[in-house]
Amino acid sequence: MSTTASEALFARAQQVSPGGVNSPVRAFRAVGGTPRFMKSGAGAWLTDADDNRYVDLVGSWGPMLLGHAHPEVIEAVTAAAARGTSFGTPAEPEVLLAEEIVARTPVERVRMVSSGTEATMSAIRLARGFTGRDRIVKFSGCYHGHVDALLAEAGSGVVTLGIPGTPGVPAHVTADTIVLPYNDPAAVDAAFAEYGDQIACVITEAAAGNMGVVPPHPGFNEHLSRTCAAHGALFITDEVMTGFRAARSGYWEIDGQVEGWQPDLMTFGKVMGGGFPAAAFGGRADVMDLLAPVGPVYQAGTLSGNPVATTAGLTTLRLATPEVYERLSATSSQVQHLVSEALAEAGVAHTLQTAGTMFSIFWGVAEPVADFAGAQAQDTAAYTAFFHAMLDAGVYLPPSAYEAWFLSAAHDPDVDSEPLSRLAEALPGAARA
Ligand code: PMP
Repeated sequence: MSTTASEALFARAQQVSPGGVNSPVRAFRAVGGTPRFMKSGAGAWLTDADDNRYVDLVGSWGPMLLGHAHPEVIEAVTAAAARGTSFGTPAEPEVLLAEEIVARTPVERVRMVSSGTEATMSAIRLARGFTGRDRIVKFSGCYHGHVDALLAEAGSGVVTLGIPGTPGVPAHVTADTIVLPYNDPAAVDAAFAEYGDQIACVITEAAAGNMGVVPPHPGFNEHLSRTCAAHGALFITDEVMTGFRAARSGYWEIDGQVEGWQPDLMTFGKVMGGGFPAAAFGGRADVMDLLAPVGPVYQAGTLSGNPVATTAGLTTLRLATPEVYERLSATSSQVQHLVSEALAEAGVAHTLQTAGTMFSIFWGVAEPVADFAGAQAQDTAAYTAFFHAMLDAGVYLPPSAYEAWFLSAAHDPDVDSEPLSRLAEALPGAARA
C-alpha cells in the first residue's frame, strides 16, 4: 500500500500546524506511522490521498451514523448552503432540530452550540449559576471535551498521549473539580458526605466511551441521579458520544428510561450535527430558562444553530429510523462476533464491552473493565500491532486502544457484503500480528 501522498501532506502539515493535525489523536502518535489524509468518503468507505480504500470503523469519531456522504443528507445540505450559510438570526432548521431532540430525549429546552466541548462547558456554567455552588464531580477516564475544569484525569486523547495533567490549566480552575473512580457509588457517597452542600453538579458520560467502552453498572447512574436530587445538585449526563448512537435517543433510553430517572441536563454532539459542527445542551425548563436572554447566565455563539449544520443534523436524525438502529445493532453484533472469534482463535486474551450499539475491545484483559484503572491495564502494544495489520489490509480502526469502534447504517450486517468481507479477511492475520 503506497502512502507517499499522505507522507508528503503530513510533512507539509507539520510545518504549519502543531504535530501536523488539528486534533491530537489523528497524528497516530500512540500507534506510530503516517496518518492517512482522507480525501473522500462514501457509505462505509474512506479513500485516502494515495487512493487506498478503507472500511471505516471510526465514522469521524461517531457522527457518521448513516455512513459518509449519504445522498439525502448531501442534497439537503447543498440546498441549505445555496440559501445562505449563516445569518446570525434565528432560522427554521434550528427550531426543527431542537424539536427533534426534545421529542427523542427527556430534555424540555435545548441551546445549540458548535462542539461537544462548548456543550459541557456551558452545562457546567449553568449548573453553577442555578445552584450558586462551585464544586463539580467528574469521573476518571470520562472525557467531556477540552474544558479547563474537566481535563482532570480525562480519557480520549489525554490518556492516549499519556498526558498526566495539562499545562495551561491553573490549579485554582481544577480546585473545585472532584474526580472520583467510575462505577464506585461508595466514592460518590463519601464525596457528598463531605461536600454535599457545595456540589453544583455531577457530570458523567451516560456510558463511558472515552476509556474504551465501559458501561455504567446497573443502578450506578440512577444512584448519581438520586444522590444529586437529595443534595440539591444537578445531574448532567454527557451524551455527546452516545446520543442518537447507542440507541435512538441515546444511552438514557437503555438506562434512565427503563429505571425511571431523568438527568437535569444533558449534552449532545456528534450524530446531531450529521458531520457538521453542531452540538447542544438541554434539560429541565426551569434550569434552562436561567440562560440569557431569559435569565442571567450568559452563553452565546456566532455560528450557534448554523442553518447548514442544523440541516445536516436534522436530515440525519429524520433518516435515523428505528430500522436504522436495528441494522446498526445487527452489524455491531456481527463485527463483535468476527473480532472475538479471530482473537480467540489466535489465543489473544481480550474483553469486549458494549453500550447499546457501541463497543470496544480491551487487549490482554480477561476481566470485565469497570473503571479507568481497569482500562489502563490493557496491552496497548498488542493493539498497535493489530491496528497496523488491519490498516495495511484496508480497515481503518481508531488509532488508539482507548476509543470505541463506530459503525454506520451503511455497513451491511451480511458477512458477505463488501465492507464486512474485507474486515473478515483482514482479521485472522491482524489477530496474529
Ligand atoms: N463529551 C464526550 C462524551 C465526547 O466523547 C466528546 C468528544 N469525543 C466531547 C464531549 C467533546 O466534543 P467535541 O470534540 O465536539 O468538543
